[in-house]
Amino acid sequence: MNDSDLNRLLKVASQARSVAVLTGAGMSRESGIPTFRGADGLWKDFRPEELASPEAFQKDPALVWEWYEWRRQIVLKAEPHEGHRVVAAMEQRFPEFLLITQNVDGLHPRAGNEKLIEIHGSINRARCTKCGSRFDLGNRMLSDLPLKCDCGALARPDVVWFGESYDSQLLSASLDFLASADMVWVIGSSGMVSVPVYLAAQAREAGAFLVDLNPEEAEFSRYCDLKIRSTAGAALPSFWNALTGGRTE
Ligand code: NAD
Repeated sequence: MNDSDLNRLLKVASQARSVAVLTGAGMSRESGIPTFRGADGLWKDFRPEELASPEAFQKDPALVWEWYEWRRQIVLKAEPHEGHRVVAAMEQRFPEFLLITQNVDGLHPRAGNEKLIEIHGSINRARCTKCGSRFDLGNRMLSDLPLKCDCGALARPDVVWFGESYDSQLLSASLDFLASADMVWVIGSSGMVSVPVYLAAQAREAGAFLVDLNPEEAEFSRYCDLKIRSTAGAALPSFWNALTGGRTE
């Protein structure tokens, strides 16, 4: 980031009251969790679209569960990086704050964020396909797959699959917050999933200052006021040091 961009960023951040952060898979890349569409985006030889769908689950629930369980074990071993810690520190600093994450890995809450919407659900939770009960999966490796609910019906990972609708309450809570946000960061999202693009566009329309943090140009970059072509793990700590003089608050 050049000096003039950094100064603009610091000016907006030091005056902002209400800040939102939208994160996609790129946010977790430096914690060792592959994105879906990068060079390392093939997960165990499957294209995500082939397994993360209601059709795939209907066809072969055990295979879908095994794939999720394999991903969950990677996620459980991963740790939040310095960029995650900055997003958690932002929550403490700004009077109004909301994190909307597409990530299902739980690294943001583990870094300390509490004001967050996991808009694609959580890989660490299951939901019954019949009674709708939700339950945490804990830390142990699951062996008896596909998982069943106590009511006897099949359970599924509690995530939003390709082709499924978003939870309307979570979506409207996100939009409500973005309608009055002063500053919105969009970090590590390719924009191939259209909802983040929509959320970013709505925030821009409502007058927020939009920051695009991604090593590559993304779909919604055109809506953004400032583009940081760097990684989450590098750019967030430098921004935070410049804003706070190194304090994590
Ligand atoms: P994506 O895989 O389509 O795109 C990732 C984006 O991150 C790309 O634009 C890439 O340029 C950028 N990126 C790569 N490394 C980065 C870094 N170090 N710092 C910042 N940006 C970086 O991801 P997506 O748009 O989020 O869509 C895929 C969906 O799949 C997600 O919404 C999510 O639900 C799911 N997913 C989740 C995880 C996870 O929970 N960690 C991982 C993969 C996919």
